[in-house]
Amino acid sequence: MDNRIFLSKSNVPLKNLNLLEDNNILEFEKLLEKYFGEEKSVLAVNSGTSAIHLSLLLAGVSKGDDVVCQSFTFSASANPIIYQGANPIFIDSEIDTWNMCPFYLEKAIKHRIKNGKKPKAIIFVHLYGMPAKIEEISLIAKKYNIILIEDAAEALGSTYKGQKCGTFGDFGIISFNNNKLLTTFGGGALICKDVKQKEKAFFFSTQARDQAPHYQHSQIGYNYRMSSVLAGIGRGQMSFLNEYLSFRRSVNQFYKSIFKDIDGIYVFEESNKILFSNHWLSCIIVNEKEAGFASEDIRLQLLEDNIESRLLWKPMHLQPIFKEALYFGGSISENLFKQGLCLPSGSNLTKNQLKRISISIKKLL
Ligand SMILES: *Cc1c(COP(=O)(O)O)cnc(C)c1O
Repeated sequence: MDNRIFLSKSNVPLKNLNLLEDNNILEFEKLLEKYFGEEKSVLAVNSGTSAIHLSLLLAGVSKGDDVVCQSFTFSASANPIIYQGANPIFIDSEIDTWNMCPFYLEKAIKHRIKNGKKPKAIIFVHLYGMPAKIEEISLIAKKYNIILIEDAAEALGSTYKGQKCGTFGDFGIISFNNNKLLTTFGGGALICKDVKQKEKAFFFSTQARDQAPHYQHSQIGYNYRMSSVLAGIGRGQMSFLNEYLSFRRSVNQFYKSIFKDIDGIYVFEESNKILFSNHWLSCIIVNEKEAGFASEDIRLQLLEDNIESRLLWKPMHLQPIFKEALYFGGSISENLFKQGLCLPSGSNLTKNQLKRISISIKKLL
């Protein structure tokens, strides 16, 4: 029997599937629009990465432009900047939410403007589902009139002052990849402010066909539309969203109870009441001096017991592929990477598996 425990398996009950209907994509988009607010227009696409790429296209980002991006994230936040031939400028995190630091964001923008080049867009992230300092970041984007792209790939169900993550930026991005809170086995969504933007995104996502009886192209297009089969899965999955959300949050509580009285271990949680995280992945920070062991010791112990855990995202400014990119910040994201660990958080974890995790961790304590 396979007794391995994985970091983030999503649960996909085979209910409410309507795979053979043609209108699955439109119906899935309607459900998403209902969820995010009727004033939003949502385009279902084949991945979160393509949603980010489309948002850059719509922001008019092209060759040689600068795009500011959170450094502490998964590479998919930044890669589409390169697809467009633009230059990423990476920003460190702040310690409350682990997301983009507004202070360094403004510093970077001022620096670029001084050099005669205002950034074309800002990509910020709600990492591990934790809402970023949205108000501060939005104010800066407004002040300098820069397009704001909200990478909410990991933050479906998270809210900031009660408003859903993904609805704050000029564009919001959701991922339905296999390991995310809600999966369609690969997929994503682009949340637009209005129908016009959605129509433009639709145009680029379906090979940029001009209006003509033949195939006529005056721009480069992409094949980014979501498949109808996957949209059918998405329709069924939407009814489980709240269930998954409360389960992931209960897993976070479970880790808080395990580590409650342990010195030197901090379970990542909301720093105040305006933040509500889906706790897509539960993460800890281990202070080796206080705890007497490092996050790597926990990882190895879990591995020995067939339980998957993973280091936090390695910041983009430390990645070999981005070593030439400009960076504004200190060492907050670097230290998070050095001391942190993501623990199993999937929505199909059983009571028995949680018990195994608890026993394994307690061997170290
Ligand atoms: C998963 C993820 C993406 C990309 O989504 P895909 O659907 O896998 O392309 C982008 N940004 C972040 C922060 C992610 O975690």
